[in-house]
Amino acid sequence: MPQSTPESAAERLAAINDRIARAARRIGAGKAPDLVAVSKTFDPEAIVPLLEVGHRVFGENRVQEAQVKWPALKAQYPDIMLHFIGPLQTNKARDAVALFDCIESVDREKLARVLSEEMQRQGRRLPCFVQVNIGAEPQKAGIAVAETKDFVARCRTVHGLEVVGLMCIPPAELPAGPFFAQLAALAEQAGVQKLSMGMSADFETAVLMGATQVRVGSALFGER
Ligand SMILES: *Cc1c(COP(=O)(O)O)cnc(C)c1O
Repeated sequence: MPQSTPESAAERLAAINDRIARAARRIGAGKAPDLVAVSKTFDPEAIVPLLEVGHRVFGENRVQEAQVKWPALKAQYPDIMLHFIGPLQTNKARDAVALFDCIESVDREKLARVLSEEMQRQGRRLPCFVQVNIGAEPQKAGIAVAETKDFVARCRTVHGLEVVGLMCIPPAELPAGPFFAQLAALAEQAGVQKLSMGMSADFETAVLMGATQVRVGSALFGER
């Protein structure tokens, strides 16, 4: 796994938090968005310095990798909030519900049903985001824009999931701003409050468009 030096990770965290706060102030946001530190591919040695300076919200995109890294860290820092941000196979739903504190990538009916069954079985009601395929890219996960409102409603009423917001990953080759604006409009239509959008390259734009959380990996931990 790639390494980043501990000192610089904490410094980068402070710099990114500062940029988020500045962007939030520019739009008069009362509260700065949360930073989800995306630690995929990085070892606990790269993560611990952020925990030591008080950061608690992290994102991982593979269940198996997270199972290796996070139980020991969670035992040491019980207030960690671990977000699942990757494609989730239904046969991994049980492990995901047991380990994670938020599922950001609910993108199809079957997954919604299986997650709901697991949450009931384990007595863990996790907040969820519906992932939207905002650029209608065939290779990307996510519910279609036109189906988002109905899907959010079904997740809530049919499956009983606590859907708190929408998440998206815009097309890499286009300016992200218009996609973020569209996700914000969709969230309003669907009746959800939170917006998970913005990564290392575009998190300030996302904050200006109303993100309530940004997901930053390489700008924080280094290149993967
Ligand atoms: C890897 C990843 C990120 C972080 O991407 P960076 O460009 O490294 O900041 C954010 N969201 C998702 C869903 C990811 O898989």
